[in-house]
Amino acid sequence: MVDDLAISDAHHAPIAKPQQRSHRGSARTVLWGARWPGDIAIEGGIITAIGHVDPRRGDKRIDCSGNIVTAGLVNSHHHLYQWLTRGQAVNEGLFGWLRALYPVWAKLDPEDVHVAALVGLAELACSGATTVADHHYVVPGGDDSVFDAIAAAATRVGLRLHLSRGSMDLGESSGGLPPDSVVEGTDAILASTQAVASRLHDGERIWINVAPCSPFSVSSELLAGSAELARKLGLRLHTHLAETLDEERSCLERFGQRPVALLAELGWTGSDVWFAHGVHLDRDEVARLGETKTAIAHCPSSNARLASGICPVVDLRQAGSPVGLGVDGAASNEVGALQPEMRQALYFARLRSLDATAFQPADSLEIATAGGAGCLGIGDVGVLQIGAKADLAIWPADDLDDIADPVAALVLGPDRKVSMLLVGGEVVVDQGNPVAIDLHEVHRALSRRACKLWPDAPRG
Ligand SMILES: [Zn+2]
Repeated sequence: MVDDLAISDAHHAPIAKPQQRSHRGSARTVLWGARWPGDIAIEGGIITAIGHVDPRRGDKRIDCSGNIVTAGLVNSHHHLYQWLTRGQAVNEGLFGWLRALYPVWAKLDPEDVHVAALVGLAELACSGATTVADHHYVVPGGDDSVFDAIAAAATRVGLRLHLSRGSMDLGESSGGLPPDSVVEGTDAILASTQAVASRLHDGERIWINVAPCSPFSVSSELLAGSAELARKLGLRLHTHLAETLDEERSCLERFGQRPVALLAELGWTGSDVWFAHGVHLDRDEVARLGETKTAIAHCPSSNARLASGICPVVDLRQAGSPVGLGVDGAASNEVGALQPEMRQALYFARLRSLDATAFQPADSLEIATAGGAGCLGIGDVGVLQIGAKADLAIWPADDLDDIADPVAALVLGPDRKVSMLLVGGEVVVDQGNPVAIDLHEVHRALSRRACKLWPDAPRG
């Protein structure tokens, strides 16, 4: 595993060293007195009791009275590096927005991405996420040390990371959308993906996925080769799919096929595949994804920001697809927080179906937790049950006492940050602040780097 301090120390980033995380190895921790679901006992990083827990001598008690406790949220799609390019191309749809940003992203180095990842992960932790999927697909010059930089940030913040080795091999001169300067060679991508997996994937804190960027930025050879590689190595497959009508048109022009048919032909369906977005799906495509248990990461705010459309979440879940929730990159969702996405998902599902019974607050919580874990192929997080990992979000709820249903309160009530976050029983956020880093300091470091990318931008 990479030395995580080397990344920040090399550029003297003002980042505090991780504090000793508490609870690991202690006899038993009891979250005591939560409004919902009551007490929770944790031993060895695992939930061992829920409801009423009789005190034992030596327990470490954490007072949760008045709080709501949920399983830690699972962010199923993100691009952490995009924290460096928030608020740009605000009047563009996906393709125009990508064209504006690709040349800027090409300038980012691993140190930039590391700082962006620290900010992005810490913000997600504060908004309740204990597991984060990141899709990194801009790898200038093939320098895959950027994945070590992202993994180091996750280790430092203390979150579980599903890191997708993204890629693009189809530049403008070959009919793709990205400029030629940001694409890599097909064989080099596959070799790098295998190398990144062999040095970073541990299946406990860091997972590596095989993840070409999108049908309009990669070749069919890369899609097919990625599916083959993932199955050989036992890794999962991830890409963007059916995000916009532009993508659908581009696919029909280039291949004479809609995106789902193209991907299916190249081996991209199954319970080891999850797609971001899945907005423009017809009835047969929804059925096909459901039958094959292919999962979808729903990113409502990003889809709204880019005027992409609304994912048919209700239909997909009914068809059998696991559906997770994602913030997507902060360049298309400047908030970068997962908790508010639960409310967005509920609103969007009801607006699409015009049916107030179609999607409930509990459904929002499910896609933000177990549904996201389903996207990532893990069963022991995202659930509040005995035997699951003690990945837990503790939400302050003093202002929600008037709402009888705690899940409705959390989903429909005002945005909030956790007071405490546990990953495997370790405290990662305490009193609303990340334990391992000074969030204000890393935000300042990020701003300095981001502003250098836009030297001519007017600032009020
Ligand atoms: Zn995305």
